[in-house]
Amino acid sequence: MNRFLSRRFFILIPFASILKVMFKPQKVFAVSNDDFIDYKSLSKEEWRQRLSPEAFYILREEGTERPFTSNLNNEKREGVFKCAGCGQPLFLSDAKFDSGTGWPSFSRPIDGAIDTKIDFKLIVPRTEYHCSRCDGHQGHVFNDGPQPTGKRYCNNGLALSFDAN
Ligand SMILES: [Zn+2]
Repeated sequence: MNRFLSRRFFILIPFASILKVMFKPQKVFAVSNDDFIDYKSLSKEEWRQRLSPEAFYILREEGTERPFTSNLNNEKREGVFKCAGCGQPLFLSDAKFDSGTGWPSFSRPIDGAIDTKIDFKLIVPRTEYHCSRCDGHQGHVFNDGPQPTGKRYCNNGLALSFDAN
């Protein structure tokens, strides 16, 4: 009887470790499922289903929220500002400054997080910027920011989510 038990025990050990290996990556997949979405291929309708009407207007139709309406204006904690469309980190809190414009403002983005284009919506050309992962519109960048970058990334609060450290 004893011998039988110990033999079974030795069979079970490798089996258990195989299970462990199998379950570990599965867990990771479940947590970061969104990382496998090809955001740039989502249709307008799919975006409409994923976002609130207000966020859809900003992110997918290049809208602009009214100034002084976002509670992220006064967000002063340490943390990460992420794209509200896809969750990609865009700005760190140490780049945030009070511009007095009524929109969350940053002096520099996280490397590679945004792309820019020129828009002529107000006739005078402005540099629009958007999330590099999902193309969601974030805001416009101006050359009157603080040193050393001299840039002011003027961001819609509705296009961001904030994760405190
Ligand atoms: Zn995004």
